[in-house]
This record gives sequence, C-alpha cells and structure tokens, in this order.
Amino acid sequence: MDIIQKRSKDVRIDQDVDFSTLIQNPLILKGLSASGYARPSPIQLQAIPLGRLGVDMIAQAKSGTGKTVVFAVIALEAIQLSITSPQALIIAPTREIAIQIKDVVQHLGQYIPQFNCEALIGGLSVQGDIKRLQHCQVVVGTPGRLMALLESKKLSTKTIKLLVMDEADKLMSDTFRQQIKYIYQKLSINKQVVAFSATFTDELLASLNDFVKEPHIVKLTHDLPTLEDSNTNDFYQTIQIYKDKFETTAELLSKVDFYQCMIFVNSFPRAAELATWLTDMGWRSGHICAGLSQEKRISVMEDMRQFKLRVLVCSDLIARGIDIDRVNLVINIDYPQNIETYLHRVGRTGRYGTSGIAINLVATEEDQNFLKSLQKKNVSIPPLPGIYHTWIIKSK
Ligand code: ADP
Repeated sequence: MDIIQKRSKDVRIDQDVDFSTLIQNPLILKGLSASGYARPSPIQLQAIPLGRLGVDMIAQAKSGTGKTVVFAVIALEAIQLSITSPQALIIAPTREIAIQIKDVVQHLGQYIPQFNCEALIGGLSVQGDIKRLQHCQVVVGTPGRLMALLESKKLSTKTIKLLVMDEADKLMSDTFRQQIKYIYQKLSINKQVVAFSATFTDELLASLNDFVKEPHIVKLTHDLPTLEDSNTNDFYQTIQIYKDKFETTAELLSKVDFYQCMIFVNSFPRAAELATWLTDMGWRSGHICAGLSQEKRISVMEDMRQFKLRVLVCSDLIARGIDIDRVNLVINIDYPQNIETYLHRVGRTGRYGTSGIAINLVATEEDQNFLKSLQKKNVSIPPLPGIYHTWIIKSK
C-alpha cells in the first residue's frame, strides 16, 4: 500500500509571504532556513507578529502545524544575549516534549553567538541542571522539576520575562495546575504569557484566565480536534482481526509501506514484550514507557529520530506533542481511555500536512466498544482494504 506524500491546506498560506516579513533578526532567519523552513504556516503567520509585540496570547492550531516554531521564535527574539541567566521559560507536560522543544529552540538559535537553551526535566540529576543553568537564556522544563528547582532556589526568576505554556490543556489539568500556579507566582508580575494548545474549549479559556491578561486569541480550527482535521483520514482504517495481535502486527508491517511506525499498547510489560518480539522478527524496534530510566528514554527517542529504529512501541507517555517526521504509520493494539488521547495518538503521523495511515486492531468486545464510541462521535473508520479485514485473530 503506497502512502501519498502531500501537504494539506492547514499548513499552506495563500499570501506570498516568507519569514523575513515576520522576523527581522537575520540570525533567526538563518536558523529557520537551516531547518528547511521557507514559508510560515498559518499559525506562524498569525501568532509570531502578535507574540513579538509582547502581548499575552492564547494560540490554538491542530497538532503538527508548527506551533513550536512560533514560541521558539518569540523566545529567541525576546532575549538579550548580554544576560546569561534565563529570560524565557517554556513549560511542557512531558520530558520527551521538553527535550524536543529544547532541540528546536537550539537549532533555530544555532547562529546566535553565546545563545544557549537547556531542558530541565525529572529523572536526571539536579546537579546537572545547576551546571546547565550557568549560561542559559531559554529554559524548557517539566512542571515537577521546575517547581523543585524554584523551591530550592536553584532557578532564579529575576530575569525571566516570558512564560510559554505548551500543550496548555494538559498543563491546566488537575495533574499539573497547582504546579503551574506555583511557577507562575514565582515569576515577575510584568511577564508576557503565551499559551499553546491543539484544543480550545471554554473550560480551557476559563482556567487560563488566571494566567493571562487580556489575551489575544489566535484560533485556527474548531474546539476539539477531529479525525477530519487529520491528514491521515484517507487511511484511518480498522481491521477486524481474529488472530494473535502480535502476529498480525508483524504481518501488517511487512505489507504496509511505511518509513517509521509507532505502536500503542497499554502496559509496560506488553511494550517490552512486543518490541523484543518484533526485533526477533527482524524489525528494528524499541519501546518507551514511564517505567524506563530517563537515560534509556532519551536514547530510545534519539535512536528513533536518527532512524536507527523503524518501530517504536509506546504507551500514552508519548501520545501527544511528539514530532518524528518520518512516522507515517500508527498502530493501536490496545485502546486509550478516551477519544481525545486516541486523536493525539493518531496525530503522531501526518505531521506538517503530510499524510499517513493509522490502523486499529480489533479483537475483543472491549476493542469494539471503543470503536463504537468513536462512531458515536461521528468518527467513521472503514475497514482496511484488501485482505486485511478477513484475517482471523485471537486476542493477546
Ligand atoms: P505543533 O507544535 O503544532 O504540533 P511542530 O512545531 O512540532 O507542530 O511542527 C510539526 C513539524 O512541522 C515539525 O517537523 C517541524 O519541523 C515542521 N515545520 C514547522 N514549521 C514549518 C515550516 N514553516 N515549514 C516547514 N516545516 C515546518
């Protein structure tokens, strides 16, 4: 099965505009060009100019349309190089997203002399963070570690004038809200606050109200992401299977044309077992879940990004926010708790307007019930064409 590579309209703009009309700093423009970005996406076109003005902002656009570049540019433009302490603080909900953001900011800022951005995340030593903070203008961090560094006064907030909240809906959830509040209160009253999210609901707006002042709102799609928003909609298919799920997965990998694949399961032992099994079958596979050490998590993500792995078996730890541009196949072996997480999972393919394929394995009544709940939300998932839907599978 061929996967067609085309860019969808959510990353294309009609105007004949390039980044130089939005940004003056030639070193940032050079960084954008070195990253291969010629023209801004719609969210970049609208949100970069507002962010540069220093106003508070809430920006919403679907996953994979370039929001990270928006706040990376805003942060790079906000800093003064003569100051070596943090001036922009970016908060992300997971360690993997924080590292990814740090890489983007560092890459875009690569031509700016004496510029440094660091990720401060749980699972790594605090001593290392203290060293990293010695010369660091942009800090990217996860809530728990940032809070701990603030409590122990190892992170000074004196020069921070910009706060970025990525995946703001997640940061506003019960898991993180108190930590975000703590961090927010430690920052100067005059800071600029910008929040980014793929979803945008009245509830989110209300909870962000405590953090932003008269925010400018940039909203590119409707409230919640849907399958129609996805670029994988040509191939979002279900297969009816009555055979072992692991065997089916291996068979699918050999029949579907893909560069890299992410497979979602719901438990740590299952992820490890499947990755080992696929490796034995000849697929270069790794796995990532919260149970692994942080060093191992970092090295698996690097292997995936460097194309040393074709397949990554994962938990919902990396269901949202992660951008690996060669991933054009997502397989759901187990189903998530809710539709929102499902949409995040399948959004790992179809990045920046490309197309991809997502396949759901159906074996148990529970699987079927989940897919029925998708249908109730008008998400229709037709059977995969060809022989696949006639396979017989046992649950595993
Ligand atoms: P989001 O934060 O909205 O989920 P990302 O910022 O992670 O999206 O971007 C998704 C992908 O699009 C990344 O691989 C990034 O390199 C690419 N990208 C972002 N902006 C541009 C652009 N202007 N031109 C080309 N590719 C881009």
